Amino acid sequence: MYLEKYSIGIGDRFGRQGNAQLSAIIKAKELGITVIPVWNKSKREHNLIHSAPADVRIEADNAVASLGWKDSYFVDADHIGLKTVNDFLTPCNFFTLDVSDYIGIKPDESDLKEFMKKASDFVGELKIPGVPSSITVTEKMLLNIAERFLTAIKEAGKIYRYINENKINGKFITEVSLDENHQAQTPVEMFFIMLGLASEKVPLQTIAPKFTGRFNKGVDYDGNPNDFIVEFESHVAVVDYAVKAFGLPKNLKISIHTGSDKFSLYPLIHNVIKKHDIGVHLKTAGTTWLEELIGLAEAGFSGLTIAKSIYQQSLHRIDELMTPYLTVVDIDVNQLPSTEEVNGWSGEKFANTLRHNQKCSDYNSSFRQLLHLGFKIASEMGSNYLDALEKYKEVIGKNVAENIFDRHIKPLFLGK
Ligand SMILES: [Zn+2]
Repeated sequence: MYLEKYSIGIGDRFGRQGNAQLSAIIKAKELGITVIPVWNKSKREHNLIHSAPADVRIEADNAVASLGWKDSYFVDADHIGLKTVNDFLTPCNFFTLDVSDYIGIKPDESDLKEFMKKASDFVGELKIPGVPSSITVTEKMLLNIAERFLTAIKEAGKIYRYINENKINGKFITEVSLDENHQAQTPVEMFFIMLGLASEKVPLQTIAPKFTGRFNKGVDYDGNPNDFIVEFESHVAVVDYAVKAFGLPKNLKISIHTGSDKFSLYPLIHNVIKKHDIGVHLKTAGTTWLEELIGLAEAGFSGLTIAKSIYQQSLHRIDELMTPYLTVVDIDVNQLPSTEEVNGWSGEKFANTLRHNQKCSDYNSSFRQLLHLGFKIASEMGSNYLDALEKYKEVIGKNVAENIFDRHIKPLFLGK
């Protein structure tokens, strides 16, 4: 199974927007760019919303059948480990092996010896084409890298082998993710991580490093975009070199776990992928559900009432909602409007405050981030919420498709 050059992760909390999401990808295809859709949802999201991986498979299959999508598409078991992978085995054909929690755990002595034996070949000057400065690799440096990453590498091997042995209905794409760690990996660390993964015979087609800066959910990048792009371009060079040196899959590419909406980075990433003629996987964070809220607000009537009620309850339960996401939100409570104020808003005002348009004076990133966590409230509303999605599906679908096409696909893959 082969992952094409350009792919985009599309999360859909409530599983109702598959067609609208795919229609944005079809629009890109009509303009000459093939972007492969990858429906991703993690165990955490499934738990919060009481959905199952099999639901995502049904959604993807239905969207593909009803819109006649002829290219490949994937269902991603996002951020799984040995403890969480079982439910995903049958419905998924893309597995994101999350080994971030194993970074920094001391490796076994025998594993360490074996790794050092292989890695020692690179002691001395390591010159990677495309990485600005050559690196002097020492035994001590290798030991540090091994002590930090080898346990995570071995864990990726274990998860991969488990999936490979237990998945009975076909092949799958493997991604390895290291992004849920506080410290960014350096190019040289990435190089030796890939050596380790190759030794474990993990046929990874994407790898997700932790990048410098903050990737908060649903809002723009918090950091210096120039630092990010230097890092990204170095990783690209390292991947290219490692593929040749270690015999990893030729289509191996970087997966950027963006948390969605890193608009200030998109034009820079576009330039790099064009310059090197390389692929990229863009993973987003289920902000499609915010487009549902925007659509409900714009629809007015009972749609707007539901949107306001979700805000009211989200504000009331802010601490509880934030707990699972503390490292990926940055909400300034002083910027949050009171429920009284929001109750007086028009649908347009609500939509403009929520929609990620930084040029709009009503846009409020704290309001947006809080509501992004509010999907738990919407989930608790059960059929009240889902019926409203059905009732106002036209205006919602328009927002969902426009968001994916205009704000993500266009700047990143089309460079417009
Ligand atoms: Zn991630």
